[in-house]
Amino acid sequence: MSKVRTRFAPSPSGFLHIGGARTALFNYLFAHNQGGRFVVRIEDTDRQRSAQEFVDAIFDGLSWLGLDSDEEPVFQSARREVHQRAIDRLTRAGACYWCFCSPERLDEVRKQAQTQGRKTMYDRTCRDLGKTPSPDEQAVLRFRSPLDGETVVNDMVRGVVTFDNAELDDLILLRSDGTPTFHLVVVADDIDMGITHCFRGEDHLTNTPRQMLICRALGAEPPVYGHLPLIVGKDRARLSKRHGATSVSAYRDQGFLPGATLNYLARLGWSHGDDEIFTKEKLVELFDVAGINSSAAAFDLDKFTWVNFQHQKRMPAAQLAALVRPFLDHGAVVDDAILPEAVELLRERAHTLVELAEGLRPFTASKVVFEEKSVAKFLTDDARALVGELAGLLDGVDRWSEESIESAFRELIESKNLKLGTLAQPVRVALTGGTQSPGIFELCRVLGRGTTLARLRAVAR
Ligand code: GLU
Repeated sequence: MSKVRTRFAPSPSGFLHIGGARTALFNYLFAHNQGGRFVVRIEDTDRQRSAQEFVDAIFDGLSWLGLDSDEEPVFQSARREVHQRAIDRLTRAGACYWCFCSPERLDEVRKQAQTQGRKTMYDRTCRDLGKTPSPDEQAVLRFRSPLDGETVVNDMVRGVVTFDNAELDDLILLRSDGTPTFHLVVVADDIDMGITHCFRGEDHLTNTPRQMLICRALGAEPPVYGHLPLIVGKDRARLSKRHGATSVSAYRDQGFLPGATLNYLARLGWSHGDDEIFTKEKLVELFDVAGINSSAAAFDLDKFTWVNFQHQKRMPAAQLAALVRPFLDHGAVVDDAILPEAVELLRERAHTLVELAEGLRPFTASKVVFEEKSVAKFLTDDARALVGELAGLLDGVDRWSEESIESAFRELIESKNLKLGTLAQPVRVALTGGTQSPGIFELCRVLGRGTTLARLRAVAR
């Protein structure tokens, strides 16, 4: 068998959304699992609906996810010759014909079929005319679809789906302005690009027998298709804005990791036993058609957030530090040496990079921002005096380590017969402005001696 080649063929009429990204991922994983190649094709023949902004956003989203095309991406609009060659070949094979019916007549035919409760199909008036349009004549080119027999789609996801050819229309290949239609270009490009397998949304399933027939009329064997089930919301309705953000970039902005997003997208319709957490490499290794579910997959933000948390927990701190950097407050200055340590302290408390960046504020802000309530409750005069004493003791420790910091705390509370919390809470407020923070000794250690002492002294009496 020839080498596996898959493609992701988005139309640039919108941003890369969850469903599109999942289609790209399945094509990518399948190709890479089989030692094949994954190619991106931008379907921009509909110039009115395509925008550069969306082309950029799609590439941006794919590259963020690590789903770059293995070859130079293909732009459909630049392939008129390929499409024309397909038209010429179909014409030579007698697989298409010119249709001169006016839009008004076609409207009539449609209405009649509707009132008679029949399927609205072209009535094939021009099928046997055998006429070619003169230069000033308006005509469309139609596919000569077989009138009987069956077309069988051996779908990787849905199994065998059989279509009655009699139900298939003689669809238009070239519009009257000479531009090729969606079906023609998709088939011509798939053949030209040597596509062997193709996952796409199940909304394309009814296009498949038509495209297979065109493909065979062009003397090629169609790709093996896999139609992926819909992605729905928790309410089982098709995923839409109503359910929250649907674009991949929105999740990037909300602080989801690319690896976690890939992981979650893979789980939207594919499973491997009870496993939930996968790296990209593992997905490539394990991806299999048998694991694809043929029923709709429900997008669940809580689950996605949990997957993200798991990835944050497992990632090397330095890598997580690099990813959280863009989320730090504007103008935040933070030492490259401190950030990974601070990340290590806080990662178990944050589900997303946004939450992690919030938790990192005590390490990244030049000034402590105090919560009024915490100040009123914990920075009493007595507490401030205690904090001052602690600062004195900490100033004297030889080595700035968690053990020496803890000894200073213990020395102070034992001498005064206090509980640790009585000292730790005011210190927390002094250092972070609030009462939520990781372990107090670790916090002091990572903040460093200079910052710790300065912040303690700033509130001390
Ligand atoms: N351009 C089509 C779309 O965005 C996909 C075509 C295909 O996958 O065959 O829906």
